[in-house]
Amino acid sequence: MDRRDTGSGPAPDEITESPEAQELIPRLLTGTGVSPGAGYGPARLVVGDVPEPAAGSRHDGDAPAERDRAERALDEVAADLEERGARAGGDAEDVLVAQAMMARDPELAASVGLLIDQGVAAPRAIFEAFGKYRDLLAAAGGYLGERVADLDDIRDRVIAVLTGLPIPGIPLDAAEPYVLVARDLAPADTALLPKDLVAAFVTEQGGPTSHTAILARSMGVPAVVGCAGATAVEPGTPVLVDGATGRVRLSPSEDEVADALRAEEARRAVLSAAAGPGATADGHAVPLLANIGGPRDLEAALAAGAEGVGLYRTEFLFLDRDTAPTPEEQEEAYRAVFEAFPHGRVVVRTLDAGADKPLPFLPPPGEEPNPALGERGIRMFRRHPDIMTAQLGALARAVTGATANVEIMAPMVATAQEAAWFAEACRTAGLDSAGIMIEVPSAAIRAADLIEVVDFFSIGTNDLTQYALAADRQVSGVAGLQDPWHPAVLDLIRTAASAASAAGKGCGVCGEAAADPVLACVLVGMGVSSLSMAAPALPWVRAALAAHTLEQCRTAAAAARSSVTPGDAVEAARAELPGLHQLGL
Ligand code: PEP
Ligand code: MG
Repeated sequence: MDRRDTGSGPAPDEITESPEAQELIPRLLTGTGVSPGAGYGPARLVVGDVPEPAAGSRHDGDAPAERDRAERALDEVAADLEERGARAGGDAEDVLVAQAMMARDPELAASVGLLIDQGVAAPRAIFEAFGKYRDLLAAAGGYLGERVADLDDIRDRVIAVLTGLPIPGIPLDAAEPYVLVARDLAPADTALLPKDLVAAFVTEQGGPTSHTAILARSMGVPAVVGCAGATAVEPGTPVLVDGATGRVRLSPSEDEVADALRAEEARRAVLSAAAGPGATADGHAVPLLANIGGPRDLEAALAAGAEGVGLYRTEFLFLDRDTAPTPEEQEEAYRAVFEAFPHGRVVVRTLDAGADKPLPFLPPPGEEPNPALGERGIRMFRRHPDIMTAQLGALARAVTGATANVEIMAPMVATAQEAAWFAEACRTAGLDSAGIMIEVPSAAIRAADLIEVVDFFSIGTNDLTQYALAADRQVSGVAGLQDPWHPAVLDLIRTAASAASAAGKGCGVCGEAAADPVLACVLVGMGVSSLSMAAPALPWVRAALAAHTLEQCRTAAAAARSSVTPGDAVEAARAELPGLHQLGL
């Protein structure tokens, strides 16, 4: 996505209604485009924030009755969320069920009960108890930090039930498509929105991993998040949203709207024309694969035309449970994926536990002040070889009889010794193709040594960026450094890809960088041989590659690598990729 226009937009007072000012001030807000496409319609604001119950408000002394009231309100909200989830289905159902679980959290209910026992009125008790959890999530930052909106939404719904206020949310009664503008959107609201009623989403808060972004992408609705000043827009104002550039134009001219919608139509035509296996305009094949967390992601991968699976994150089988999945359970999950791609490549990553993916039954040996630098990924297997043997055994059994081209890789490999140890373990288990992820700078720098002992590389740009820039991917304060466009990261990728190519072996990318259509061209230009990404990104990347020759990708890569800053690298690459325009990117 184009990041040239991201960042904070004009202050709300620049969105003035005075006709003189309209002449003088460009009526443009900017945020981060998180779901590409153009959307146009009148702004509808999510209104009806529930006011904070007064501090110090007390109940009438009947604590058991007040507790009962609070419990019933929590229950009512949870049941409503579950019911909305069941109606919505798909990703939305998962999100709403998770939210309902928050509302049913026994610890939360206990905190509310404790406050009520001290005389605090139920609405205030809800507000204060939720506040504690809110602070914890906000402090955690990253993915957890972005769940704050979910928690606030439950709190407001429960308080509304208790105080008789209307439940906050979005009116579903519009006759024409509208641009939904909000501070942030709650999954409960977005889940039920009919796709054809919403031209675009614009939120003042939220980042690329917020629920607004995730759901907008899965609905295929253009969206801009982190758009300062959005909620100051007068309801009914015509709004033109560009979900790729992050531009939000207020009261655009007829010509601007017509141009944008024409470009959108042309872009859709280009996207749907770019079917089939991934390749550059001059026919250089670049297999486009899907990142999945388990069999449930297969449908979307197949629908988006994935040629196989480039990253099967098997830790999803292990998360949220007290014991490891049985070998039989594992075998079944692996077989389901192999069967979905009878003629494709399926790259399975062994368990990547630790740091941002802790497992309750595999705690680190002691206090880890920097979990991202601790016993995670393959390092954990050194202490628990039984877990690795069981997983490789289940994979070997699932491979028997499968026609997919199955390859196994290990995460967080830092040295050639680790790579050799893992490859040997795979071979002992009867698995033919063993590779490693390149996500630690030492492995990229000495890629020529590591490729000698394995069959392929897959670059994890999320972690490679984290470690190259020394910026923890879970700490939002250093999120600005987490940029795979940084020329230092590009150099590491180039080193790994060159080493693999010199050895006649493959080097894919399966981190988020592969899902950025512009960066995808640069990666191919640096010698990356396949790209793996979340399913919704596949059509965009396929179309971006099809619009450029290999030579153009190489020139763009060289231009990006000779830049000094990530922003300059993007600009330099874009200047060499003229076909991006027809995609509106
Ligand atoms: C990566 O680090 O880029 C990667 C694909 O692995 P994960 O995001 O699962 O750590
Ligand atoms: Mg990783």
